[in-house]
Amino acid sequence: MATKTQLRRRRGRESPTELRARTKKIIARLARAYADATSALDHRSALELLVATILSAQSTDARVNLVTPALFAKYQTARAYAAADPAVLEQEIHSTGFFRKKTKAIIGMAQALVERHGGEVPDTMEALVQLPGVGRKTANVVLGTWFHKNEGIAVDTHVHRLATLLGLTKERQPEKIERDLMALVPRARWTWFSHTLILHGRRVCIARRPRCEVCVVNRLCPSSRV
Ligand code: SF4
Repeated sequence: MATKTQLRRRRGRESPTELRARTKKIIARLARAYADATSALDHRSALELLVATILSAQSTDARVNLVTPALFAKYQTARAYAAADPAVLEQEIHSTGFFRKKTKAIIGMAQALVERHGGEVPDTMEALVQLPGVGRKTANVVLGTWFHKNEGIAVDTHVHRLATLLGLTKERQPEKIERDLMALVPRARWTWFSHTLILHGRRVCIARRPRCEVCVVNRLCPSSRV
């Protein structure tokens, strides 16, 4: 049976102090379960991670990881991507979906790297989001995962869904969700928190069939079914 506090949370009447305290407990429990959470996208450089992250839009990391070994072996520099034949690259990334849009993004991004950054991936949010095809989510992934800079929290569909289920935000737009999470989660945890919600969303809090009975935060979650 739900406690009075649980019922208040479910009615959205949790005070900011209660929400902060509950978030702290959620982080502590997730930290025990997902101590080393990181990106599931295979990569060995900032450029590879940037390309893989662009490819992962509307796709799965497993699907992207099937495509990238051959891609990374063929295109080893930003100059190589910048000079790619779009028709050929489209075929090479076809199975990740939205291949025309992604081809345009990768070639445009690589050309901008060559023109503005000497072929190197910049390590600032400001410069990354100026690259074609690179939004705040992709920039957060590259900055946090490769450069170990916590500039924000990457909000993908899992992060969006879990942050809502856990009652950490009522917002619907990624930028606003990110802002809410940044206010609740300690900065040193920002990148880890995003990777962790993604892992938890894949393994336990699965869309349409969440496994609340085995969830480590079920006692802290207003959407728990147990
Ligand atoms: S308790 Fe259920 S709904 Fe809440 S995070 Fe865990 S699996 Fe998801």
